[in-house]
Amino acid sequence: MIITFESGADTTSIDRLRVEADRLGIGNRMLRFDDGSVIAGFDRTLPPDALTGLAASQILPTHRPYMLASSEHRDRSVVWVGDVAFGADMPVLIAGPCVVESTEQMIEAAIAVKAAGAVMLRGGAFKPRTSPYSFQGHGETALQMLVAARDATGLPFVTEVLEPDQVDLVAAHADMLQIGARNMANTPLLKRAARSGKPILLKRGFSATIDEWLMAAEYVLSEGNPNLVLCERGIRGFDPALRFNLDLNAVPLAMQLSHLPVIVDPSHGTGVRSLVQPMALAGIAAGANGLIVEAQPDPDAAMCDGYQTISTDELAQINRRVQRLAAALSDEVDVATPDARELVRA
Ligand code: PEP
Ligand code: MN
Repeated sequence: MIITFESGADTTSIDRLRVEADRLGIGNRMLRFDDGSVIAGFDRTLPPDALTGLAASQILPTHRPYMLASSEHRDRSVVWVGDVAFGADMPVLIAGPCVVESTEQMIEAAIAVKAAGAVMLRGGAFKPRTSPYSFQGHGETALQMLVAARDATGLPFVTEVLEPDQVDLVAAHADMLQIGARNMANTPLLKRAARSGKPILLKRGFSATIDEWLMAAEYVLSEGNPNLVLCERGIRGFDPALRFNLDLNAVPLAMQLSHLPVIVDPSHGTGVRSLVQPMALAGIAAGANGLIVEAQPDPDAAMCDGYQTISTDELAQINRRVQRLAAALSDEVDVATPDARELVRA
């Protein structure tokens, strides 16, 4: 059962619900959004007398399993990272190198991606690599380099956190925590990252279903952190011609099933530099709230993922086209909550 309260609703009703849930021993989650609205998700149905006189705006007896992330009770959410708004009218462009290599590289890249139109910076400090012999990232030192790049440009940054014990360290530096594809279902990490209070960028696992992805998001929300952005970054296909298949069905589907903003990663989603721009534009055409792109001034010099890293000149071209595309679509795009549940279950 889901019960929602609008911003400014009578707090005695909300408190009464909390007390009632405790008294009945019914698991519940209360999530307060930044706009002041509250959602209470119960794992069972409350008895009718517990509902009498409650100043709630909606009471839904049945709902999807991801109670708090579901669009059944909330249309769209806006997630703020500093001054950057995910899920507002214009798409957010995040860009930067795959991995943080040096202070000079990061500052140079940050200045160039900002000039190209990016409003947030990316860069890996702790890297999840397939081979234990590959460069694993400069770790804590790289966090300082990201801070230097933020200081030089004012761009907030997102960086990946790999394990629960790293959360406090990464959260002390970063503006947004990335949970990567390989860790999407790492529930101790999801919970710990959520409790940091930082906004979370949750990448879809490359073999995860939409339901599994949204349940992973639910772990974050159920820890009281409403600031989560979903990222479609490609799933594994059968064809070795592509590193991953960017699943653009997932963009409108996740936006119909959930109120959370969704962005697209066309770099990992293709693994091919020449495909990044077309798939970035396709992601925006599919309704995505933004892009995260691997870009740096000299992509061939990148220590990691250079083959899918674009130049900052091309990033500027993508940005110009994204702005025009988003403006052209703004009157028309409507992803408001038809019930796509059957599609997921089929
Ligand atoms: C990354 O963004 O650097 C990354 C490793 O992404 P993913 O988790 O999607 O592979
Ligand atoms: Mn990469």
